[in-house]
Amino acid sequence: MIPNLDWMQHAACAGLDPRAFFSIGNHARAQVNAARRVCAACPVRQQCADWAIQTGERHGVWGGMSQQQLRQRRRRFTSRAKTSTRAAS
Ligand code: SF4
Repeated sequence: MIPNLDWMQHAACAGLDPRAFFSIGNHARAQVNAARRVCAACPVRQQCADWAIQTGERHGVWGGMSQQQLRQRRRRFTSRAKTSTRAAS
């Protein structure tokens, strides 16, 4: 099944340099905070977060989440998925 990515057309970061969302070096914290400010006003923040979790994105700011927040949310998502699978079997 081909995923519906129409939401990306409405991204607040469309047209921005993607490197702004992938922090590196000494200014990583400031860069993440700047990216998250863009995300705060994004109308497709939830879709972006869901996409990052479902596709296993490990780097960058997605849905207004830092890499650490994304990792934590993915753990919860994976844990819930395993619980649901066990309950269904
Ligand atoms: S939530 Fe942030 S990274 Fe995701 S589409 Fe919106 S602006 Fe881009």
